[in-house]
Amino acid sequence: MARPNQARLDLGALRHNVNVARRLAPASKIMAVVKANAYGHGAVTIATALQPAVDALAVACIEEAVELRAAGISLPILLLEGAFESQELQQVAELDLWLTVENERQLHWLETATVPAPISCWLKVDTGMNRMGAKPAMAPDYYRRLLATPNVRDDIVTYTHLASADDLLSLQTQRQLAVFDALPFPALRCAANSAGLLAWPQAHYDWVRPGYMLYGNSPMLQDHENALELQPVMTLTSAVISLRDVATGEAVGYGGTWVTQRPSRIATVTIGYGDGYPRHAANGTPVLVNGQRAALAGRVSMDMITVDVTDLSGVEAGSEVVLWGEGLPLSEIALCADTIGYELTTRMPARTRRVVIRG
Ligand SMILES: *Cc1c(COP(=O)(O)O)cnc(C)c1O
Repeated sequence: MARPNQARLDLGALRHNVNVARRLAPASKIMAVVKANAYGHGAVTIATALQPAVDALAVACIEEAVELRAAGISLPILLLEGAFESQELQQVAELDLWLTVENERQLHWLETATVPAPISCWLKVDTGMNRMGAKPAMAPDYYRRLLATPNVRDDIVTYTHLASADDLLSLQTQRQLAVFDALPFPALRCAANSAGLLAWPQAHYDWVRPGYMLYGNSPMLQDHENALELQPVMTLTSAVISLRDVATGEAVGYGGTWVTQRPSRIATVTIGYGDGYPRHAANGTPVLVNGQRAALAGRVSMDMITVDVTDLSGVEAGSEVVLWGEGLPLSEIALCADTIGYELTTRMPARTRRVVIRG
């Protein structure tokens, strides 16, 4: 049999998560964020499944949008960082993409371009994250200049990004929204990422911009009842390929970082950092073997991990292993690897087969 690793993609869960977003923000349009290959899930697969269910998509750059248009995606697609050079504007207009404008250079390109049709623009305002967007004091002038440009359609949306919406205890979200609410021009508005959508109803406005939650994961630092409704889209699975008994006091794996405290049964699973499982996953990171929790024991190798299955029964070569997804939240694994779930799915290499389940 071929190597058993799969990243199973449950498109029924994806649709369910869109419905959760709709129910939480019933008055807002949904722009689904599918940048970075849909957070590693596969941009074309995810965008095709989302197409009937959402109002627009967002990607990081024109290359990602071109891939989606070539696959027959006709939804509006926003370029979240706008153009990187003036030559892109031609193609932006031809492919009917939406364009972020956040700085003087991008604005100047729009004012001076010759384009086949006017472009829909999203004016990004920096309300306090200090990463992207025009300063609030400059925003009215940008808005006026966009309106005055024949190259720009007059349905301008203004948007901002929340830096700490995942933290219910942070005061930053309210501060940012106060700045956003004080902008003195009448454009449509958008602020909420997944955390804003899940936990900050006052951030919903005309559009919401979720990514992570659509893939069934909670971005929240604290438990949140709305996040409990999400269903994981990706379940990463592998299998046991070898088993051994190890006496007390022996070390397992590279560097001998894990030493048995008792006579132990060690299962070797054919997945490693070359397959997208994080090398920094600590000893004790949970793994499901035949649906039962076991603990990672020893360092993650490129193609294998070792798991302590001493307390489990019925484990044999071929037993199914779940690394994250159904029954094992991605965020829990991310914590054990000192990262966030976003990074784990986004870094999933092509080597790991995506298998689509149309639930
Ligand atoms: C990635 C991104 C999002 C989506 O964030 P999630 O936390 O995945 O919901 C929204 N807006 C912008 C500008 C982004 O870059």
